Amino acid sequence: MGTILGCIADDFTGATDLAGLLARSGVRVSLRIGVPDTPPEDTAAFEVIALKSRTAPVAEAVGEARAALSWLKRAGAARFFWKYCSTFDSTAEGNIGPVAEALMADLETDQTIYCPAFPENGRSIFMGNLFVGRVPLAESPMRDHPLTPMRDSNLMRLLTPQVTKPVGLVDRLTVARGAGAITSELARLRGEGVAHVVVDAVANEDLFAIAEACRDMPLMTGGSALAMPLPALYQADGTLAADAPKTEVPELAAGTIVLSGSCSAMTNAQVAAYMATGAPGYRLDPLELAQYGPEAALDWIGTQHLNDAPLIYATADPAKVKKAQAKLGVARAGELVEQALAQCALASREAGARRFIVAGGETSGAVTKALEVAQLDIGAEIAPGVPWTFCRSAGHQIALTLKSGNFGAESFFSDARARLEAA
Ligand code: ADP
Repeated sequence: MGTILGCIADDFTGATDLAGLLARSGVRVSLRIGVPDTPPEDTAAFEVIALKSRTAPVAEAVGEARAALSWLKRAGAARFFWKYCSTFDSTAEGNIGPVAEALMADLETDQTIYCPAFPENGRSIFMGNLFVGRVPLAESPMRDHPLTPMRDSNLMRLLTPQVTKPVGLVDRLTVARGAGAITSELARLRGEGVAHVVVDAVANEDLFAIAEACRDMPLMTGGSALAMPLPALYQADGTLAADAPKTEVPELAAGTIVLSGSCSAMTNAQVAAYMATGAPGYRLDPLELAQYGPEAALDWIGTQHLNDAPLIYATADPAKVKKAQAKLGVARAGELVEQALAQCALASREAGARRFIVAGGETSGAVTKALEVAQLDIGAEIAPGVPWTFCRSAGHQIALTLKSGNFGAESFFSDARARLEAA
């Protein structure tokens, strides 16, 4: 099956979010971690490449995105989507604009759109200004983000210093008149030499109209919500066959392990709720890890029935985390826990675990790396933005779900088990 839409995301959880929304259509979606170093094979209709380029130097971000584009072209894609955060996380240098401009040059196209709106999650754009809930972006907590502080809410003003060509707007009054009006306005702006067009959207209907108008552009850019209507549109116009391959849930052995390295408030509640179900649990303590290493935890795994889905967690309340960080330093405490959980993942796999439930963004990175996972097929959603995924690790078919920070309900770990069994 040739790829019809090639997507490039600037971080891993953003890629998972996009892949999950595309997979709601039931069509097979494949996510690659980094640009594959082998030529495309066994490709899906929707391919998503996860980069780690949001805060990388501009030249590096551009280089990686161009390599991703080239791979996706070889996979057969003729339309591309550049996905970034719905809060337009970037600096005056980039990387949203420079990457878009480089991709446009490689695709020999003279216009693209920018629509990070995600109305269901409270991200809307009106007259080019991005709102987070009821407040402008620059008045939201993003104002004080440690890496990409957003001090302006106007997307045209944010984009202009990042690009070399003119920036314009299709405003909500036009979007409200539907796909035809959007198409005409884009053509008018193109006539004026406007290459970068911010498009307003305050509701899902707006995103449908924009996707309908722009679905055949060589390059669209935006948040994940803009891509959500695309599978149905491509199916309706025959670009995507009605019988396009679906994601298949592979045969999986029963053994399950839950690994939690997130210390967010929600993950603390999820660990407590899971322990309250009577599930077996083992707590990792960074201070003990620093002194004795992870052997005790690895031994514990050997004593467990993996059909009971035991939990290994470093998840702790802020006071405990602070205490460990004060003794070990923030970076070393984090590294000790991540490496211990990565080794627990490997030991569990050796012991027969084939279902891995992982909590924590950085933790997920460490675990996927240890399991040497390079490609994931996206399955059913457990909670909004958190799908089950299917992949291979050391020749074994495994299922993996990667939950960042505050995602999921309190019952997430039990929900994840149940969702896979129901799939
Ligand atoms: P989230 O998605 O909630 O941000 P991450 O896994 O990205 O979760 O980040 C959590 C970080 O905290 C990781 O680096 C992890 O190793 C570290 N960590 C986990 N437990 C502890 C602990 N008890 N003390 C100190 N650091 C911890």
